[in-house]
Amino acid sequence: MLEANEGTREIMEEIQTRMARNPDRARRIGTFGFIELEDTWGDETTILNTARVSTSNRRLSDPSTLSDKDRSLLEHLLSEEHGTPFETVWFRYRFIAPIFVLRQWVKHRVSTWNEFSMRYRKPISAFYVPDTKARTIEGFEVMTQEQTDRYVSLMETVNRFYEEEYETICQKIDGLRLQGSLPPKTGGRDPYRARARELLRCAMPVSNYSDVYWTVNFRSLMNFFNLRTKETAQYEIREYALAAYDVFGHAFPLLRSIMEKIGKAPITPASS
Ligand SMILES: Cc1cc2nc3c(=O)[nH]c(=O)nc-3n(C[C@H](O)[C@H](O)[C@H](O)COP(=O)(O)OP(=O)(O)OC[C@H]3O[C@@H](n4cnc5c(N)ncnc54)[C@H](O)[C@@H]3O)c2cc1C
Repeated sequence: MLEANEGTREIMEEIQTRMARNPDRARRIGTFGFIELEDTWGDETTILNTARVSTSNRRLSDPSTLSDKDRSLLEHLLSEEHGTPFETVWFRYRFIAPIFVLRQWVKHRVSTWNEFSMRYRKPISAFYVPDTKARTIEGFEVMTQEQTDRYVSLMETVNRFYEEEYETICQKIDGLRLQGSLPPKTGGRDPYRARARELLRCAMPVSNYSDVYWTVNFRSLMNFFNLRTKETAQYEIREYALAAYDVFGHAFPLLRSIMEKIGKAPITPASS
């Protein structure tokens, strides 16, 4: 069993804290995955006020007091795909997902990314392990338990390789510093340790988890929901997209209900 490194233990504690503090907006995915809608900017009134700039001087400030007319305008804008008013509402998600999921997610270019760096920190020492559901299609076990065990053993070996080689290099650096063969650390980033991290990260597999802040406007978020909750999307990113939609729906039940009414909502497992 691979032991989590210190940074990974801190992330595990942080996930527990966030889940307890923000249960409507945070979800666990698999053994180590996590997503939280940490922040939002704007609401239904932002969309309506933006749209009305061209037609009226009426402005709203409280989304809980929308009239039937307001609701039907929202419905009209969404169903007719009036895009730009939906670009004025923003969402900031944090998610912890395997790197192979990140590679698919980052293709959604109309959004802003900030990702955990293996140049500045050691990798998160947790990797994706597909459970029985992820490994099975219509009763056929595509990847068996035995194969999964071998995969887990391989990933543990790679993660251990990183930890052990990094430790060896750090000890060497410290020893050479004591002897005076390497210049002392002058504060800030240690260039030798930093280069070790840059080189050793090359061994890390795409199954290891990474940590991302994803900031996205509502129009682009709907595009993400649409593309990544479909059956054709890979199972793992689909799990994240469905969780992202679920927490969005808790935060914006009216928008969710309009999306569902006009057929723009993802087909969730509960609704399918
Ligand atoms: C099932 C599935 C399989 C996929 N397979 C692959 C694959 O094999 N290889 C691969 O590389 N990608 C693959 N993708 C990624 C896909 O090609 C898109 O890059 C990704 O889904 C992001 O979609 P998007 O471009 O609509 O989103 P965004 O990049 O967020 O763009 C949003 C919208 O902005 C507009 N836009 C953005 N950039 C441009 C531009 N340069 N020119 C014109 N309009 C633009 C488009 O209207 C676009 O829909 C796959 C996606 C899915 C869902």
